[in-house]
Amino acid sequence: MKIKKMQDLDLKNKRVLVRVDYNVPTKDGRVTDDTRIQASLPTLRHLLAAGARVILMSHLGRPKGQVTPKYSLSPVAKHLGQVLGNPVEFASDCLGPAAASAAQNLPPGGILVLENLRFHPEEEKNDENFAKSLASLGEVFVQDAFGAVHRAHASTSAVTRFLPSGAGFLLQKELQFLEQIREKPAKPYVALVGGAKVSDKIEVLEKLLAKVDTLAIGGAMAYTFLSAMGVPVGKSLVEKDKTDLAKSLLDKAQKKNVTILLPRDHMVVKAIEDEASAKYTDDQAIPEGLIGVDVGPKTVQRLLAPIGSAKTIFWNGPMGIFEVARYSKGTTDVAKLAAEAAGRGTVVVIGGGDSVAAVQAAGLADKITHISTGGGASLEFLEGKDLPGVAALA
Ligand code: AMP
Repeated sequence: MKIKKMQDLDLKNKRVLVRVDYNVPTKDGRVTDDTRIQASLPTLRHLLAAGARVILMSHLGRPKGQVTPKYSLSPVAKHLGQVLGNPVEFASDCLGPAAASAAQNLPPGGILVLENLRFHPEEEKNDENFAKSLASLGEVFVQDAFGAVHRAHASTSAVTRFLPSGAGFLLQKELQFLEQIREKPAKPYVALVGGAKVSDKIEVLEKLLAKVDTLAIGGAMAYTFLSAMGVPVGKSLVEKDKTDLAKSLLDKAQKKNVTILLPRDHMVVKAIEDEASAKYTDDQAIPEGLIGVDVGPKTVQRLLAPIGSAKTIFWNGPMGIFEVARYSKGTTDVAKLAAEAAGRGTVVVIGGGDSVAAVQAAGLADKITHISTGGGASLEFLEGKDLPGVAALA
């Protein structure tokens, strides 16, 4: 899909309304991970260099249309000011007199952050009047919130009806990498998919089967597949109502000559809280009563060859309960393999959420070709769905 870009817009000395994704983790009024803020900087710098007055809007958390102080964007504005080395203004509402006068009085090169869009229920309803009020703050609109474009909200969809609109650099970069792996992935192509549930990822698994040479499945999802094959999985998490679906995906893979790799060994425990009981199984079967919490070393070993020869790798979802350090080795090992592959020139794209957290925890984020800032959006894009916030820029 061809979309309008920020570079196509007249930005000089304009008040530019920018939708960013500053839905970042905060604790005690401080930003604890500023990846998404850092990712917005190329766009901000471009706008500032053009002498624009920059008005930033975002959501944070799920305040469900209510003013909720713990979801205020005020700490984010402060953090952005520190990152840029220049103070950033903050308006205590995203519309109304406070926002209007702050936007009007902004000097060229000034930056204003508006309060959380989702303090108003109209945002998620894609309300036309609400969008019009937002649009009245600027003269041009830039969409750079990749993590929010899979939603048709006022700040991603309706707002574009009122202002000349284009994609910022982050959105352009996300689409470029994801389009490349969706449409023309260099082969061999290996996808690694983990996480909790098959049900969340059915559509993306189906789409990946049409493109990949190897699909490696880990995390709790793998137990639904193993269970469908009749392999004992003990008390591991299984979606019993999804075993037929898992079986049909395995059949499809065989017909398409796609190699499916399921874990061949596991770290198992007696209970998730009982870390001391952790041990590795010898093979694919999990003894009765035990729970699989991570993939084992033989599973990682078997990934070496396909990852070693891959030209494209896509990864979404951890290989185990990686939040618990004792159960994180499989995920960390996969992060290392992915980073090494990227170092050899393989296009490695990591799709949002927990796998990104795992790569960051391993200190390998800067080695990866592209880390998506949007988990849900990147999956929907790969599923082939139209993203409303992108379609609005066509
Ligand atoms: P997702 O959001 O679908 O990518 O799932 C991520 C979640 O899957 C993380 O919170 C992991 O702890 C969880 N997960 C991964 N492997 C397992 C497992 N073997 N058992 C239970 N939960 C798991």
